[in-house]
Amino acid sequence: MQSVSLVWFRQDLRLHDNPALAEAIDTGHVLPVYILDDTNAGDWKIGSASRWWLHHSIQQLNQTLANKLWVYKGDPKQIIKRLISEHSIENVFWNRCYEPWQVQRDKKIKNELEYLGISVRSFNSALLWEPWTNLKHDDTPYKVFTPFYENGMENLFIETPTETKIAKLKAIPCSQANDKIEQLALMPTLNWYEGIASNWSPGERGAQERLDSFIQKGIENYKVGRDFPALNSVSRQSPHLHYGEISPRQILHYIAKATQGMQIEANVAHFQKELAWREFSYSLLYYFPFITHRNLNQKFDQFPWVENEALLRLWQGGKTGFPIIDAGMRELWHTGYMHNRVRMIAASFLAKNLCIPWQLGAKWFWDCLLDADLANNSASWQWVAGSGADAAPYFRIFNPVIQSQKFDPDGNYIRSYVPELSSCPSKLIHDPGSASPTEIRKHGIILGNDYPLPIVDLKETRAAALTAYKNMKETILAA
Ligand code: FAD
Repeated sequence: MQSVSLVWFRQDLRLHDNPALAEAIDTGHVLPVYILDDTNAGDWKIGSASRWWLHHSIQQLNQTLANKLWVYKGDPKQIIKRLISEHSIENVFWNRCYEPWQVQRDKKIKNELEYLGISVRSFNSALLWEPWTNLKHDDTPYKVFTPFYENGMENLFIETPTETKIAKLKAIPCSQANDKIEQLALMPTLNWYEGIASNWSPGERGAQERLDSFIQKGIENYKVGRDFPALNSVSRQSPHLHYGEISPRQILHYIAKATQGMQIEANVAHFQKELAWREFSYSLLYYFPFITHRNLNQKFDQFPWVENEALLRLWQGGKTGFPIIDAGMRELWHTGYMHNRVRMIAASFLAKNLCIPWQLGAKWFWDCLLDADLANNSASWQWVAGSGADAAPYFRIFNPVIQSQKFDPDGNYIRSYVPELSSCPSKLIHDPGSASPTEIRKHGIILGNDYPLPIVDLKETRAAALTAYKNMKETILAA
Protein backbone atom coordinates (compact mmCIF):
# COMPACT_ATOMS: atom_id res chain seq x y z
CA MET A 1 0.00 0.00 0.00
CA GLN A 2 1.30 3.48 -0.91
CA SER A 3 1.87 5.96 1.88
CA VAL A 4 -0.17 9.15 2.35
CA SER A 5 1.57 12.52 2.48
CA LEU A 6 0.00 15.71 3.73
CA VAL A 7 1.00 18.81 1.76
CA TRP A 8 0.40 21.95 3.76
CA PHE A 9 -0.09 24.86 1.33
CA ARG A 10 0.72 28.27 2.81
CA GLN A 11 2.37 30.98 0.70
CA ASP A 12 2.98 28.64 -2.21
CA LEU A 13 -0.48 28.57 -3.78
CA ARG A 14 0.59 26.99 -7.06
CA LEU A 15 1.09 23.55 -8.54
CA HIS A 16 4.19 24.18 -10.64
CA ASP A 17 7.68 24.62 -9.29
CA ASN A 18 6.32 23.53 -5.93
CA PRO A 19 8.89 21.22 -4.29
CA ALA A 20 6.67 20.14 -1.38
CA LEU A 21 3.90 19.05 -3.72
CA ALA A 22 6.33 17.39 -6.15
CA GLU A 23 7.84 15.38 -3.31
CA ALA A 24 4.42 14.26 -2.08
CA ILE A 25 3.33 13.18 -5.57
CA ASP A 26 6.47 11.07 -5.91
CA THR A 27 5.80 9.47 -2.53
CA GLY A 28 2.22 8.22 -3.10
CA HIS A 29 -1.22 9.52 -2.15
CA VAL A 30 -1.57 13.21 -1.32
CA LEU A 31 -3.77 15.11 1.11
CA PRO A 32 -3.53 18.77 0.03
CA VAL A 33 -4.46 21.12 2.87
CA TYR A 34 -4.87 24.86 3.38
CA ILE A 35 -5.29 26.22 6.92
CA LEU A 36 -6.17 29.84 7.64
CA ASP A 37 -4.12 30.53 10.75
CA ASP A 38 -5.40 33.56 12.63
CA THR A 39 -4.58 31.73 15.87
CA ASN A 40 -0.81 32.20 15.85
CA ALA A 41 -0.48 35.35 13.74
CA GLY A 42 -0.81 37.80 16.65
CA ASP A 43 -0.57 41.38 15.34
CA TRP A 44 0.03 40.14 11.82
CA LYS A 45 -3.27 38.56 10.89
CA ILE A 46 -3.76 38.95 7.15
CA GLY A 47 -5.13 42.43 6.29
CA SER A 48 -8.49 43.08 4.62
CA ALA A 49 -7.37 43.54 1.00
CA SER A 50 -4.99 40.62 1.21
CA ARG A 51 -7.84 38.44 2.53
CA TRP A 52 -9.83 39.24 -0.60
CA TRP A 53 -6.84 38.04 -2.63
CA LEU A 54 -6.40 34.92 -0.56
CA HIS A 55 -10.06 33.93 -0.99
CA HIS A 56 -9.70 33.94 -4.78
CA SER A 57 -6.27 32.39 -4.74
CA ILE A 58 -7.44 29.41 -2.68
CA GLN A 59 -10.43 29.03 -4.99
CA GLN A 60 -8.09 28.89 -7.98
CA LEU A 61 -5.82 26.39 -6.27
CA ASN A 62 -8.79 24.21 -5.39
CA GLN A 63 -9.96 24.29 -9.01
CA THR A 64 -6.58 23.19 -10.31
CA LEU A 65 -6.65 20.40 -7.73
CA ALA A 66 -10.03 19.25 -9.09
CA ASN A 67 -11.85 20.34 -5.91
CA LYS A 68 -9.65 18.25 -3.68
CA LEU A 69 -8.20 20.94 -1.42
CA TRP A 70 -8.95 20.34 2.26
CA VAL A 71 -9.64 23.75 3.78
CA TYR A 72 -9.61 24.64 7.47
CA LYS A 73 -9.42 27.58 9.86
CA GLY A 74 -7.70 27.32 13.25
CA ASP A 75 -4.50 26.15 14.85
CA PRO A 76 -2.50 24.15 12.26
CA LYS A 77 -0.90 21.96 14.92
CA GLN A 78 -4.24 20.63 16.13
CA ILE A 79 -5.68 20.30 12.65
CA ILE A 80 -2.66 18.50 11.20
CA LYS A 81 -2.47 16.11 14.15
CA ARG A 82 -6.14 15.24 13.70
CA LEU A 83 -5.70 14.65 9.96
CA ILE A 84 -2.69 12.45 10.62
CA SER A 85 -4.68 10.15 12.84
CA GLU A 86 -7.76 10.12 10.58
CA HIS A 87 -5.88 9.37 7.35
CA SER A 88 -2.88 7.34 8.51
CA ILE A 89 -0.51 9.99 7.22
CA GLU A 90 3.19 9.16 7.25
CA ASN A 91 4.76 12.29 5.77
CA VAL A 92 4.11 16.00 6.10
CA PHE A 93 5.63 18.37 3.52
CA TRP A 94 5.57 22.14 3.32
CA ASN A 95 7.43 25.02 1.70
CA ARG A 96 9.10 27.37 4.15
CA CYS A 97 7.67 30.73 5.34
CA TYR A 98 9.79 33.41 7.00
CA GLU A 99 7.61 35.68 9.13
CA PRO A 100 8.83 35.43 12.74
CA TRP A 101 5.60 33.92 14.07
CA GLN A 102 5.51 31.40 11.22
CA VAL A 103 9.10 30.33 11.87
CA GLN A 104 8.35 29.75 15.55
CA ARG A 105 5.10 27.90 14.84
CA ASP A 106 6.63 25.66 12.17
CA LYS A 107 9.57 24.68 14.40
CA LYS A 108 7.17 23.60 17.15
CA ILE A 109 4.96 21.62 14.75
CA LYS A 110 7.96 19.88 13.19
CA ASN A 111 9.30 18.85 16.60
CA GLU A 112 5.96 17.58 17.78
CA LEU A 113 5.20 15.61 14.61
CA GLU A 114 8.66 14.06 14.51
CA TYR A 115 8.19 13.00 18.10
CA LEU A 116 5.05 11.18 16.92
CA GLY A 117 7.10 9.36 14.29
CA ILE A 118 5.93 11.41 11.29
CA SER A 119 8.47 12.35 8.66
CA VAL A 120 8.43 16.13 8.17
CA ARG A 121 10.28 17.84 5.33
CA SER A 122 10.30 21.48 4.34
CA PHE A 123 11.56 23.13 1.13
CA ASN A 124 12.45 26.49 -0.33
CA SER A 125 9.92 27.63 -2.88
CA ALA A 126 9.85 31.39 -2.34
CA LEU A 127 13.35 32.82 -2.42
CA LEU A 128 16.44 32.91 -4.60
CA TRP A 129 18.58 32.99 -1.47
CA GLU A 130 17.19 31.78 1.81
CA PRO A 131 18.51 34.06 4.56
CA TRP A 132 21.13 31.63 5.84
CA THR A 133 22.52 31.04 2.34
CA ASN A 134 23.58 34.65 1.72
CA LEU A 135 25.69 35.84 4.64
CA LYS A 136 28.87 37.90 5.02
CA HIS A 137 32.22 36.10 5.24
CA ASP A 138 31.96 36.10 9.04
CA ASP A 139 28.51 34.44 8.81
CA THR A 140 26.65 37.53 9.97
CA PRO A 141 23.73 38.98 7.98
CA TYR A 142 24.14 41.89 5.58
CA LYS A 143 22.71 45.26 6.53
CA VAL A 144 23.71 46.90 3.26
CA PHE A 145 21.99 45.95 0.02
CA THR A 146 24.79 46.15 -2.58
CA PRO A 147 27.17 43.58 -1.05
CA PHE A 148 24.17 41.37 -0.24
CA TYR A 149 23.16 41.54 -3.88
CA GLU A 150 26.66 41.06 -5.28
CA ASN A 151 27.38 38.10 -3.05
CA GLY A 152 24.03 36.53 -3.92
CA MET A 153 24.59 37.00 -7.63
CA GLU A 154 27.94 35.21 -7.44
CA ASN A 155 26.09 32.08 -6.38
CA LEU A 156 22.93 32.51 -8.40
CA PHE A 157 22.15 29.73 -10.77
CA ILE A 158 18.64 29.86 -12.15
CA GLU A 159 17.65 26.23 -12.44
CA THR A 160 14.83 25.29 -14.75
CA PRO A 161 11.65 25.38 -12.66
CA THR A 162 10.38 21.91 -11.86
CA GLU A 163 7.30 20.70 -13.69
CA THR A 164 4.93 19.10 -11.20
CA LYS A 165 3.62 15.79 -12.51
CA ILE A 166 -0.01 16.80 -12.07
CA ALA A 167 -1.25 13.84 -14.09
CA LYS A 168 0.29 11.55 -11.48
CA LEU A 169 -1.33 13.36 -8.55
CA LYS A 170 -3.44 10.97 -6.48
CA ALA A 171 -5.24 13.36 -4.16
CA ILE A 172 -7.56 12.09 -1.44
CA PRO A 173 -11.10 13.22 -2.37
CA CYS A 174 -12.63 15.84 -0.16
CA SER A 175 -16.23 16.96 0.11
CA GLN A 176 -17.48 20.54 -0.20
CA ALA A 177 -14.14 22.26 -0.66
CA ASN A 178 -15.87 25.32 -2.09
CA ASP A 179 -18.22 25.63 0.90
CA LYS A 180 -15.23 25.35 3.21
CA ILE A 181 -13.53 28.23 1.38
CA GLU A 182 -16.67 30.35 1.83
CA GLN A 183 -16.69 29.46 5.54
CA LEU A 184 -13.27 31.03 5.97
CA ALA A 185 -15.17 34.34 5.57
CA LEU A 186 -12.25 36.01 3.86
CA MET A 187 -14.47 38.14 1.63
CA PRO A 188 -15.41 41.56 3.04
CA THR A 189 -19.04 41.95 4.10
CA LEU A 190 -19.28 45.34 2.35
CA ASN A 191 -18.58 45.50 -1.36
CA TRP A 192 -15.61 47.88 -1.43
CA TYR A 193 -13.61 45.61 -3.67
CA GLU A 194 -15.08 46.23 -7.15
CA GLY A 195 -12.08 48.33 -8.20
CA ILE A 196 -9.79 45.61 -6.93
CA ALA A 197 -11.66 42.80 -8.68
CA SER A 198 -11.54 44.60 -12.04
CA ASN A 199 -7.76 45.09 -11.83
CA TRP A 200 -6.48 41.72 -10.68
CA SER A 201 -6.69 37.94 -11.30
CA PRO A 202 -5.38 36.05 -8.28
CA GLY A 203 -4.04 32.54 -8.79
CA GLU A 204 -1.33 30.70 -10.66
CA ARG A 205 -2.82 31.38 -14.08
CA GLY A 206 -3.35 35.08 -13.28
CA ALA A 207 0.30 35.33 -12.22
CA GLN A 208 1.49 33.80 -15.48
CA GLU A 209 -0.78 36.03 -17.59
CA ARG A 210 0.41 39.13 -15.73
CA LEU A 211 4.01 38.08 -16.27
CA ASP A 212 3.39 37.48 -20.00
CA SER A 213 1.88 40.92 -20.30
CA PHE A 214 4.89 42.48 -18.50
CA ILE A 215 7.27 40.64 -20.83
CA GLN A 216 5.34 41.91 -23.85
CA LYS A 217 4.74 45.50 -22.73
CA GLY A 218 6.85 46.46 -19.72
CA ILE A 219 10.26 44.89 -19.46
CA GLU A 220 11.89 46.58 -22.44
CA ASN A 221 11.55 49.97 -20.77
CA TYR A 222 11.66 48.79 -17.14
CA LYS A 223 14.83 50.55 -16.00
CA VAL A 224 13.51 54.02 -16.79
CA GLY A 225 9.78 53.38 -16.98
CA ARG A 226 9.53 51.81 -13.51
CA ASP A 227 9.68 55.26 -11.93
CA PHE A 228 6.73 56.68 -13.85
CA PRO A 229 3.43 55.66 -12.26
CA ALA A 230 1.34 56.53 -15.32
CA LEU A 231 3.31 54.08 -17.47
CA ASN A 232 2.60 50.38 -17.60
CA SER A 233 6.24 49.48 -17.01
CA VAL A 234 6.19 47.48 -13.80
CA SER A 235 5.41 43.80 -13.43
CA ARG A 236 2.68 43.87 -10.75
CA GLN A 237 3.92 40.50 -9.61
CA SER A 238 4.01 41.50 -5.92
CA PRO A 239 0.72 39.95 -4.69
CA HIS A 240 1.35 36.86 -6.82
CA LEU A 241 4.81 36.57 -5.27
CA HIS A 242 3.48 37.13 -1.76
CA TYR A 243 1.09 34.22 -2.05
CA GLY A 244 3.58 32.12 -3.97
CA GLU A 245 1.41 31.79 -7.06
CA ILE A 246 4.67 32.15 -8.92
CA SER A 247 8.25 31.83 -7.72
CA PRO A 248 11.11 34.25 -8.35
CA ARG A 249 12.92 31.37 -10.03
CA GLN A 250 10.01 30.91 -12.48
CA ILE A 251 9.89 34.65 -13.14
CA LEU A 252 13.60 34.95 -13.89
CA HIS A 253 13.58 31.79 -15.97
CA TYR A 254 10.63 32.89 -18.16
CA ILE A 255 12.03 36.39 -18.57
CA ALA A 256 15.47 35.09 -19.58
CA LYS A 257 13.87 32.76 -22.14
CA ALA A 258 11.42 35.29 -23.53
CA THR A 259 13.91 38.15 -23.87
CA GLN A 260 16.73 36.20 -25.51
CA GLY A 261 18.16 38.21 -28.40
CA MET A 262 16.13 41.31 -27.55
CA GLN A 263 19.18 43.24 -26.33
CA ILE A 264 17.45 44.55 -23.25
CA GLU A 265 19.94 43.11 -20.75
CA ALA A 266 20.11 46.33 -18.72
CA ASN A 267 16.34 46.24 -18.16
CA VAL A 268 16.36 42.57 -17.24
CA ALA A 269 19.29 43.12 -14.86
CA HIS A 270 17.49 46.01 -13.20
CA PHE A 271 14.37 43.92 -12.73
CA GLN A 272 16.48 41.18 -11.17
CA LYS A 273 17.92 43.76 -8.80
CA GLU A 274 14.45 44.83 -7.67
CA LEU A 275 13.57 41.20 -7.01
CA ALA A 276 16.75 41.06 -4.93
CA TRP A 277 15.41 43.88 -2.72
CA ARG A 278 12.66 41.44 -1.80
CA GLU A 279 15.32 38.88 -0.88
CA PHE A 280 17.14 41.50 1.18
CA SER A 281 13.94 42.34 3.07
CA TYR A 282 13.40 38.67 3.86
CA SER A 283 16.93 38.37 5.17
CA LEU A 284 16.44 41.45 7.37
CA LEU A 285 13.16 40.15 8.75
CA TYR A 286 14.65 36.76 9.45
CA TYR A 287 17.67 38.06 11.36
CA PHE A 288 16.04 41.15 12.89
CA PRO A 289 12.47 39.99 13.51
CA PHE A 290 11.69 43.09 15.57
CA ILE A 291 11.81 45.33 12.45
CA THR A 292 8.05 44.87 12.13
CA HIS A 293 7.51 47.30 14.99
CA ARG A 294 10.86 48.66 16.31
CA ASN A 295 13.47 50.80 14.60
CA LEU A 296 16.35 48.76 13.22
CA ASN A 297 18.55 51.76 13.89
CA GLN A 298 17.79 52.30 17.56
CA LYS A 299 18.88 55.93 17.41
CA PHE A 300 15.43 56.59 16.01
CA ASP A 301 13.85 55.50 19.28
CA GLN A 302 14.77 59.04 20.44
CA PHE A 303 13.02 60.75 17.51
CA PRO A 304 10.05 62.90 18.58
CA TRP A 305 7.36 61.18 16.50
CA VAL A 306 3.91 62.72 16.82
CA GLU A 307 0.77 60.58 16.79
CA ASN A 308 -1.57 63.08 15.13
CA GLU A 309 -4.82 61.22 14.45
CA ALA A 310 -6.40 64.01 12.36
CA LEU A 311 -3.41 64.30 9.99
CA LEU A 312 -3.12 60.52 9.78
CA ARG A 313 -6.75 60.30 8.63
CA LEU A 314 -6.24 62.96 5.95
CA TRP A 315 -3.21 61.06 4.67
CA GLN A 316 -5.11 57.74 4.69
CA GLY A 317 -8.05 59.26 2.85
CA GLY A 318 -5.95 60.94 0.13
CA LYS A 319 -6.85 64.45 1.29
CA THR A 320 -3.45 66.02 1.95
CA GLY A 321 -3.69 68.69 -0.74
CA PHE A 322 -0.61 67.24 -2.46
CA PRO A 323 -2.01 65.59 -5.58
CA ILE A 324 0.66 62.93 -6.14
CA ILE A 325 0.22 61.69 -2.56
CA ASP A 326 -3.55 61.84 -2.74
CA ALA A 327 -3.50 59.96 -6.05
CA GLY A 328 -1.35 57.26 -4.49
CA MET A 329 -3.46 56.89 -1.37
CA ARG A 330 -6.60 56.67 -3.50
CA GLU A 331 -4.97 54.22 -5.91
CA LEU A 332 -4.27 52.09 -2.84
CA TRP A 333 -7.85 52.32 -1.61
CA HIS A 334 -9.46 51.63 -5.00
CA THR A 335 -7.12 49.03 -6.47
CA GLY A 336 -5.26 47.52 -3.50
CA TYR A 337 -1.96 48.59 -5.07
CA MET A 338 0.25 51.65 -5.13
CA HIS A 339 3.10 52.27 -7.52
CA ASN A 340 6.53 52.00 -5.85
CA ARG A 341 7.60 55.58 -6.62
CA VAL A 342 4.40 56.88 -5.07
CA ARG A 343 4.72 54.54 -2.07
CA MET A 344 8.07 56.21 -1.38
CA ILE A 345 6.66 59.74 -1.74
CA ALA A 346 3.58 59.05 0.39
CA ALA A 347 5.59 57.26 3.08
CA SER A 348 8.24 59.98 3.23
CA PHE A 349 5.53 62.61 3.66
CA LEU A 350 3.98 60.70 6.57
CA ALA A 351 7.24 59.94 8.37
CA LYS A 352 9.20 63.09 7.60
CA ASN A 353 6.80 65.97 6.92
CA LEU A 354 4.11 64.86 9.37
CA CYS A 355 6.59 63.12 11.73
CA ILE A 356 3.95 60.43 12.32
CA PRO A 357 5.47 57.08 13.42
CA TRP A 358 6.21 54.95 10.36
CA GLN A 359 4.54 52.03 12.13
CA LEU A 360 1.14 53.70 11.70
CA GLY A 361 1.72 54.05 7.96
CA ALA A 362 2.91 50.46 7.75
CA LYS A 363 -0.26 49.28 9.53
CA TRP A 364 -2.46 51.14 7.05
CA PHE A 365 -0.57 49.62 4.13
CA TRP A 366 -0.84 46.21 5.78
CA ASP A 367 -4.62 46.47 5.74
CA CYS A 368 -5.04 48.03 2.29
CA LEU A 369 -2.35 46.43 0.12
CA LEU A 370 -3.09 43.27 -1.83
CA ASP A 371 0.64 42.60 -1.72
CA ALA A 372 0.95 43.34 2.02
CA ASP A 373 4.10 41.46 2.93
CA LEU A 374 5.65 41.64 6.37
CA ALA A 375 9.25 41.59 5.10
CA ASN A 376 8.85 44.07 2.25
CA ASN A 377 6.48 46.37 4.10
CA SER A 378 8.53 46.61 7.30
CA ALA A 379 11.89 46.95 5.56
CA SER A 380 10.57 49.49 3.02
CA TRP A 381 8.88 51.68 5.63
CA GLN A 382 12.05 51.71 7.70
CA TRP A 383 14.09 52.46 4.59
CA VAL A 384 11.94 55.51 3.83
CA ALA A 385 11.80 56.67 7.46
CA GLY A 386 15.60 56.51 7.66
CA SER A 387 15.62 54.03 10.53
CA GLY A 388 16.20 50.90 8.45
CA ALA A 389 19.04 48.99 6.83
CA ASP A 390 20.86 50.87 4.08
CA ALA A 391 18.13 53.46 4.53
CA ALA A 392 17.57 56.68 2.64
CA PRO A 393 19.49 59.25 4.71
CA TYR A 394 17.15 61.14 7.00
CA PHE A 395 17.97 64.49 5.43
CA ARG A 396 16.77 63.22 2.02
CA ILE A 397 13.15 64.20 2.32
CA PHE A 398 11.12 63.62 -0.82
CA ASN A 399 9.47 66.82 -2.00
CA PRO A 400 6.11 65.61 -3.33
CA VAL A 401 5.77 68.54 -5.74
CA ILE A 402 9.19 68.07 -7.35
CA GLN A 403 8.70 64.29 -7.45
CA SER A 404 5.36 64.79 -9.13
CA GLN A 405 6.78 67.19 -11.73
CA LYS A 406 9.58 64.75 -12.47
CA PHE A 407 7.73 61.44 -12.52
CA ASP A 408 4.21 62.39 -13.57
CA PRO A 409 5.03 65.41 -15.75
CA ASP A 410 1.71 65.49 -17.61
CA GLY A 411 -0.30 64.72 -14.47
CA ASN A 412 -1.87 61.66 -16.09
CA TYR A 413 -1.45 59.50 -12.99
CA ILE A 414 -2.90 62.23 -10.79
CA ARG A 415 -5.89 62.68 -13.10
CA SER A 416 -6.65 58.93 -12.96
CA TYR A 417 -7.20 59.00 -9.21
CA VAL A 418 -7.99 62.62 -8.36
CA PRO A 419 -10.81 63.37 -10.80
CA GLU A 420 -11.58 66.74 -9.19
CA LEU A 421 -8.29 67.95 -10.71
CA SER A 422 -8.91 66.51 -14.18
CA SER A 423 -9.47 69.97 -15.70
CA CYS A 424 -6.33 71.35 -14.05
CA PRO A 425 -3.51 72.14 -16.54
CA SER A 426 -0.24 70.23 -16.12
CA LYS A 427 1.68 73.27 -14.90
CA LEU A 428 -0.68 73.67 -11.91
CA ILE A 429 -1.63 70.09 -11.17
CA HIS A 430 1.45 69.23 -9.11
CA ASP A 431 0.91 71.98 -6.56
CA PRO A 432 -2.53 73.56 -6.92
CA GLY A 433 -2.22 74.95 -3.38
CA SER A 434 0.48 77.37 -4.51
CA ALA A 435 -1.57 78.78 -7.40
CA SER A 436 -3.63 81.92 -6.87
CA PRO A 437 -7.29 81.15 -6.10
CA THR A 438 -8.36 83.17 -9.16
CA GLU A 439 -6.04 81.29 -11.46
CA ILE A 440 -7.18 77.89 -10.25
CA ARG A 441 -10.84 78.94 -10.29
CA LYS A 442 -10.50 79.59 -14.04
CA HIS A 443 -10.32 75.81 -14.36
CA GLY A 444 -13.49 75.26 -12.36
CA ILE A 445 -11.73 74.28 -9.13
CA ILE A 446 -12.31 75.95 -5.78
CA LEU A 447 -9.50 74.99 -3.43
CA GLY A 448 -10.63 74.03 0.04
CA ASN A 449 -13.96 73.07 -1.49
CA ASP A 450 -13.42 70.82 -4.53
CA TYR A 451 -9.90 69.83 -3.55
CA PRO A 452 -8.14 70.33 -0.18
CA LEU A 453 -5.63 73.03 0.54
CA PRO A 454 -2.22 71.60 1.56
CA ILE A 455 -2.47 70.27 5.11
CA VAL A 456 1.06 71.41 5.97
CA ASP A 457 3.72 73.75 4.65
CA LEU A 458 6.41 71.64 2.98
CA LYS A 459 9.32 73.98 3.76
CA GLU A 460 8.37 74.45 7.40
CA THR A 461 7.77 70.76 8.08
CA ARG A 462 10.98 69.81 6.31
CA ALA A 463 12.96 72.26 8.44
CA ALA A 464 11.23 71.05 11.63
CA ALA A 465 12.00 67.42 10.80
CA LEU A 466 15.65 68.20 10.11
CA THR A 467 15.93 70.10 13.40
CA ALA A 468 14.36 67.17 15.27
CA TYR A 469 16.85 64.85 13.58
CA LYS A 470 19.80 67.10 14.50
CA ASN A 471 18.60 67.27 18.12
CA MET A 472 18.22 63.51 18.22
CA LYS A 473 21.82 63.06 17.07
CA GLU A 474 23.11 65.63 19.58
CA THR A 475 21.21 64.01 22.47
CA ILE A 476 22.71 60.65 21.58
CA LEU A 477 26.24 62.10 21.32
CA ALA A 478 25.84 63.83 24.67
CA ALA A 479 24.59 60.68 26.39
P1 FAD B 1 8.28 45.63 -9.85
O1 FAD B 1 8.96 46.93 -10.01
O2 FAD B 1 7.78 44.98 -11.07
O3 FAD B 1 9.30 44.67 -9.08
C1 FAD B 1 9.24 43.26 -9.16
C2 FAD B 1 9.25 42.66 -7.77
O4 FAD B 1 10.43 43.02 -7.09
C3 FAD B 1 8.11 43.13 -6.89
O5 FAD B 1 6.94 42.41 -7.12
C4 FAD B 1 8.68 42.89 -5.50
O6 FAD B 1 8.55 41.56 -5.11
C5 FAD B 1 10.15 43.20 -5.69
N1 FAD B 1 10.43 44.59 -5.33
C6 FAD B 1 10.40 45.67 -6.13
N2 FAD B 1 10.75 46.77 -5.43
C7 FAD B 1 10.97 46.37 -4.16
C8 FAD B 1 11.37 47.04 -2.96
N3 FAD B 1 11.63 48.35 -2.93
N4 FAD B 1 11.49 46.31 -1.83
C9 FAD B 1 11.27 44.98 -1.84
N5 FAD B 1 10.90 44.29 -2.94
C10 FAD B 1 10.76 44.98 -4.09
N6 FAD B 1 6.29 45.37 -1.57
C11 FAD B 1 5.54 44.29 -1.27
O7 FAD B 1 5.60 43.28 -1.99
N7 FAD B 1 4.72 44.28 -0.18
C12 FAD B 1 4.61 45.36 0.64
O8 FAD B 1 3.89 45.30 1.64
C13 FAD B 1 5.36 46.53 0.32
N8 FAD B 1 5.26 47.65 1.07
C14 FAD B 1 6.00 48.76 0.73
C15 FAD B 1 5.89 49.92 1.53
C16 FAD B 1 6.62 51.05 1.20
C17 FAD B 1 6.52 52.28 2.07
C18 FAD B 1 7.44 51.05 0.06
C19 FAD B 1 8.23 52.28 -0.31
C20 FAD B 1 7.57 49.92 -0.72
C21 FAD B 1 6.86 48.77 -0.40
N9 FAD B 1 6.97 47.58 -1.17
C22 FAD B 1 6.22 46.49 -0.83
C23 FAD B 1 7.99 47.47 -2.24
C24 FAD B 1 7.51 47.85 -3.64
O9 FAD B 1 6.83 49.07 -3.62
C25 FAD B 1 6.59 46.80 -4.26
O10 FAD B 1 7.18 45.52 -4.16
C26 FAD B 1 6.34 47.08 -5.74
O11 FAD B 1 5.79 48.36 -5.92
C27 FAD B 1 5.39 46.03 -6.29
O12 FAD B 1 5.04 46.31 -7.60
P2 FAD B 1 5.59 45.44 -8.81
O13 FAD B 1 5.40 44.00 -8.54
O14 FAD B 1 4.95 45.99 -10.04
O15 FAD B 1 7.13 45.81 -8.78
